[in-house]
Amino acid sequence: MKSKENLRQELKQMDHRGYPAYKSLRGQYDFGDFVLSIDHVQGDPFASPSNLSVVIPMKRAGFPEQYWKEEFARVALEDCLLRKFSDGLSKSSFKAKGSGKSGLIGTSRPGQEILHRSAMVIAKNMLTARFEVGFPANGRTINARELEKVLFDFLPPVVMQSLYYRNWKKEVLQKNYELSVDQHYIREELPKRKLVAFLGEGSILPRMSGVSSKPLRGAVPLSVPESLRVELKLPCHGKMTGMGIPEGVTLIIGGGYHGKSTLLQALEQGVYNHIAGDGREYAITEDSALKLRAEDGRSVQNLDLSLFIHNLPNGKDTKKFSTEDASGSTSQAAAVMEGVEMGSCTFLIDEDTSATNFLVRDEFMQKIVHGDKEPITPFCARVRDLYEKAGISTVLVAGSSGAFFHMADTVIQMDSYRPLDVKEKVDRYLEEYPLPAFEAEEFSLPQTERAFWGSPARRDDRIKTKVMSTDGFSINHNTVDLRYLEQLVDSEQTAALAGMMKYYMTKVSGPATVKRLAEMLARQMKQGGLEAFMDGYAYCGMAEPRLQEIYAMLNRSRKHV
Ligand code: ADP
Ligand code: MG
Repeated sequence: MKSKENLRQELKQMDHRGYPAYKSLRGQYDFGDFVLSIDHVQGDPFASPSNLSVVIPMKRAGFPEQYWKEEFARVALEDCLLRKFSDGLSKSSFKAKGSGKSGLIGTSRPGQEILHRSAMVIAKNMLTARFEVGFPANGRTINARELEKVLFDFLPPVVMQSLYYRNWKKEVLQKNYELSVDQHYIREELPKRKLVAFLGEGSILPRMSGVSSKPLRGAVPLSVPESLRVELKLPCHGKMTGMGIPEGVTLIIGGGYHGKSTLLQALEQGVYNHIAGDGREYAITEDSALKLRAEDGRSVQNLDLSLFIHNLPNGKDTKKFSTEDASGSTSQAAAVMEGVEMGSCTFLIDEDTSATNFLVRDEFMQKIVHGDKEPITPFCARVRDLYEKAGISTVLVAGSSGAFFHMADTVIQMDSYRPLDVKEKVDRYLEEYPLPAFEAEEFSLPQTERAFWGSPARRDDRIKTKVMSTDGFSINHNTVDLRYLEQLVDSEQTAALAGMMKYYMTKVSGPATVKRLAEMLARQMKQGGLEAFMDGYAYCGMAEPRLQEIYAMLNRSRKHV
């Protein structure tokens, strides 16, 4: 390996030369406290900045082993280090001069969620921090002196401050570790207590705005009705009470604007751990929970929808249903059946984002439009069987129809942002308002798994991907629309999904079922890291998606991809 003095020499020699001369810097340099790796050099000053990384043996970095031995703690440590590293790099005290992206320095900036990201990786006893630097130029001439300042003056103190244990306030890392232990404990506790979610008392659920996931200031903290109160003994925090959402069918009702959707959104996002101060750090939902919504226009491939849809006017087979333009109700039925296929244990549904005719149909309407003229068996007629025969719980916001009262094990009314358990009250009225009869066929789940329809790239294809925040990505001009996947929370997750699609197209041979392919990609991600999908040069912009989103991405890819 070359030394840092070699690098200094090389920089001196290339000063004022044409920009492409920078390319020769690729390689690794020993800086003593860390190894600096120049992984990819940009082609010109206006292109995306160059990719660099810093590598330190964990032993040298000095973080106690318990902080990174187990996955949940490791991800929390990586997240904590990345935040400080990122803050350090973005300090405005340093600005290189020059054209294009000269001197631009940065790395991933995590949001409220704690995710494993390619920008900060602890693996094989090594710590790797990835970042970008716009290599400085005047016009198209190398300005090596500025790059020297970046790499020799600016970078090392940032690395030392954020990636060496001895320079951290010990309490900060200890607190970070303890939160990860407690969050992990709650997750493990959920199935033992037959809960789909736990929401700590006093949690702040609402967010600042539709575009900010920071906590809303002055919000009403979560209170807990007695009957749903659960007490946990967290390993670090100690006693904690909260609202337990039991397995089964849970209904969230209440007047408009009383906080129903906010509660459901907290459940959706609870599949991720949140940072301290988020307000939802003790709001934890079972990992496989899946938000189901209407998504008209999406593509559906070879799916058995017969549990919900049959006798279509165009005579289409709903046991093997495909469309490039699903209707609202069809798309939601598809989401349910895909959720079943992937093995999700909890469905989350909000009437605000559902197709009304998918959820219920009242008696009057059934009188007028007879069963044989109505292809849809509403979700209401299936929700109990989904739980009793397939073990899938549902949490449903339904403020406008009483039909679900007959199906619910738990009924939570949101009243001025306070949850109340109103199950007893509901039970008193059940006889007075009998259940409308649904003509529904016998409940049975599809047994076969679908083959994936994507096609591998031809050998000579150059594959281009473009990520559009959390809205989706395009791959060779075919768009995979992910904007309605509400549990895809970070554009770096989208980037990972795009990388996976590319990986499939170039590296996976042979047929696979959709489910197996999703599982294979998830396994590859866990074993080989996100690096497996980064294709050639290292870059810092990927975050782990869940298995559910990997699977959802495959399902939303269109046939010609
Ligand atoms: P609903 O679905 O019942 O119509 P929402 O959940 O959309 O109601 O909430 C309505 C508004 O109230 C939102 O702007 C939300 O941010 C706010 N809100 C929700 N929960 C709280 C709370 N606990 N404290 C203060 N404001 C809240
Ligand atoms: Mg709502």
